[in-house]
Amino acid sequence: MIQPGLRTVRVAVLSPLRSFFDYLPPESGAATPIAPGSRVRVPLGRSERIGVVVRDCATGDDAVHQDLKPVRAVLDAEPVIDASLMALALWAIQYYHCPPGEVFDALLPTELRRGEPPRQTREPAWQLTPAGSAALQGGERLGPRQRELLESAHKGAVTRSGLADLNAKIRVLRDAERRGWLMPIGEDSTLKPVVVDAERFLPLNPGQSEACTKIGDGLDTFGVHLLHGVTGSGKTEIYLHLAREVILRGGQILLLVPEIGLTEQIVRRFSERFGAMVGLVHSELSDRARALEWQRCRRGEVRILLGTRSAVWMPLPELALIVVDEEHDASFKQQEGFRYSARDVAVMRARRLNIPVVLGSATPSLESLANCERGKYAYLPLDERAGGASLPSIRVLDIRGMRLSSGISDPLRRAILERAERGEQSLLFLNRRGFAPVVLCHACGWIAGCPRCDSRLVLHQEQGRLRCHHCGFERRTDAVLPGHPCGRLETYAGVGIGTEQLEGALEGIFPGLRILRIDRDAMRHKGDLERAFARIRQREVDLLIGTQMIAKGHDFAHVTLVGIVDGDSGLLARDFRAEERFMQTVLQVAGRAGRGEQAGEVLIQSHHPEHPVFGFLRTADYRGFAARALAERAEAEMPPHTALAMLRAEAPARETPQAFLRELADWLRQTLPQAVFIGGPVPALMERKVGRYRANLLLSCADRGVLAAALEAALMKIRTLPMARRVRWHLDVDAQETG
Ligand code: ADP
Ligand code: ZN
Repeated sequence: MIQPGLRTVRVAVLSPLRSFFDYLPPESGAATPIAPGSRVRVPLGRSERIGVVVRDCATGDDAVHQDLKPVRAVLDAEPVIDASLMALALWAIQYYHCPPGEVFDALLPTELRRGEPPRQTREPAWQLTPAGSAALQGGERLGPRQRELLESAHKGAVTRSGLADLNAKIRVLRDAERRGWLMPIGEDSTLKPVVVDAERFLPLNPGQSEACTKIGDGLDTFGVHLLHGVTGSGKTEIYLHLAREVILRGGQILLLVPEIGLTEQIVRRFSERFGAMVGLVHSELSDRARALEWQRCRRGEVRILLGTRSAVWMPLPELALIVVDEEHDASFKQQEGFRYSARDVAVMRARRLNIPVVLGSATPSLESLANCERGKYAYLPLDERAGGASLPSIRVLDIRGMRLSSGISDPLRRAILERAERGEQSLLFLNRRGFAPVVLCHACGWIAGCPRCDSRLVLHQEQGRLRCHHCGFERRTDAVLPGHPCGRLETYAGVGIGTEQLEGALEGIFPGLRILRIDRDAMRHKGDLERAFARIRQREVDLLIGTQMIAKGHDFAHVTLVGIVDGDSGLLARDFRAEERFMQTVLQVAGRAGRGEQAGEVLIQSHHPEHPVFGFLRTADYRGFAARALAERAEAEMPPHTALAMLRAEAPARETPQAFLRELADWLRQTLPQAVFIGGPVPALMERKVGRYRANLLLSCADRGVLAAALEAALMKIRTLPMARRVRWHLDVDAQETG
């Protein structure tokens, strides 16, 4: 029995402050406890903030009440965060040692963060009919507006406010409705499954069946399954089969994909089979659209949610299966603010709900492989491609001393020509945007650096700009740059080669070929990428040049040759994960080749062909590579052998962050148990960024619990250090970028 006046309400205030705050119950309605997960308006300092109640309980201690202020208003009659997400959020606050408000920010759509009431009224929505689907597949001639509308409906129900994002008028929608292409979704809250008929599902091959059965047998309990399937082995097909099974049992599915892996292809495959049951969240969604998806998920209208990182926080009351596709991908780790790993949060969410989680990848992270070795995850390999395609052969071209034209060796050039003659496509991978990564003055030798970062300006010739890829600084190529001693403008020369230059050079080398470049500069507008992929599929392109953007998820049936232009870049990087990332990227890009009937070939140009990584690449032996890398990490006491966290400080003066971290490190070294390794402080690899100097302190320990306690101690100590007020600092638990 809670007595009014002896209660305190603990609130996660939506602010970057690193603690919870206690309040008295609101003056009116004090008798009723506030359910955790409800939003409140509370005073904080001289302002008023929105917060989320984490508990409302009796304290029994009158003294603490004296300084407390009452909650000003309770905003929700029903909690907006359910008990299971609340528990997950509280776990994340502890695990990542981060401000509570930042975590709750991730859980709530913008309008709820601002204190607005949740949308109660359901928005009218429309879904694609089979006739609409047929119209879209080419049966009808469609106007551009009409096509855009149907395509959007194909990905999930179209709502009235969603129309605004499409620039479509209600008239277009009514017209589609009249023609029987769209139909309004009924008022009753449960959507009728469009079709989950078995015919639309490919019969699984024996390898897929085995994996699918193993996962399917464990649908009622927590378990992590690492699905290590080579590119094209039919992992997505397994997800689809599992989704069907879960939907038939009345559950919801969450499928997380990397930032640029949320391709039209995967969305299409799910929508084709599950229609309007599919929901979608990604970083380009408007606040309003996101809020609507949040509601649809919460009400159970979305049965399958496809989404990038932040989707892991969406409310799914009947969640029964989580899939993380490309689980090794770095974009699952948020790199600013609340630095969580969506993959790891997904595993924790599954564990708390007692449901299974599938981590899928052709190149699993060393973390997940280590968990298999320790017996914590089940290992499910798929070593062959589904549907008859064979894996591409991989060759390393020793280009030492070879004549290169614009970075392309003769064997690679000939291979491209051969493909073109046979009507097949080639793909060149170069992960460097722009015309040239380095620009120098031919008159005085000055190298154009960013005035705010320790980085070089990249020449973007098409746009006539010099640009810093780290802070966005840019100048026209005919502007005088700060620090340029001779100040002559006409003498800039590019050194090295980026995709923009490569494209131009290839047009010269292969005059007859149709060349298409895919990178962030060439694909700036909405729809560019979709159009590009359509052109590739329709074989309107012979040679593709691309960055990271094309490495993942796409299925190019006619690409039979992949060339890795700069096979040395990844090996020269200084981060301890560089080799792992390189191996993953090359195998992912290689996976684009030979997905159709013709076998594929991969040519990697390198000056270091004897590097051990290439030995593993030649035989596509990712397991062998991982075993060696894991042994090295154990030797060096690095993750995943140990748990690692990075404390980073930054300030406008070079000495400040280092002095701050040194003072902290000295204290930690005296106080912490020997088992905790303390590295640094050292300047960050790029010490100066956007005008601030950065330094790092690494803490690691084989025992995660001991490390957590050490981090807690460090945070307590920081509160007492006057230096802390002169720097900006943050803690990154399980940091991916440690440079
Ligand atoms: P992954 O997700 O592992 O890259 P996909 O599920 O995309 O693999 O499958 C690769 C290709 O093989 C796709 O074109 C898919 O349609 C086809 N495929 C997958 N499973 C089967 C199967 N059991 N029978 C025939 N084709 C299949
Ligand atoms: Zn910069």
